[in-house]
Amino acid sequence: MSAVATDHKRCERCWRYTGDVGQNARYDDLCTRCYEVVDSLGFPL
Ligand SMILES: [Zn+2]
Repeated sequence: MSAVATDHKRCERCWRYTGDVGQNARYDDLCTRCYEVVDSLGFPL
């Protein structure tokens, strides 16, 4: 049984469960915060 009871997806970069994961079409496994970082750095995933 998971200790985390949430419907939120887990961000693959920071491993946080946030409601904003999947808000970005290009990086649908990232939260908005990580998306902005990755996008600014230009890292391919
Ligand atoms: Zn994240």
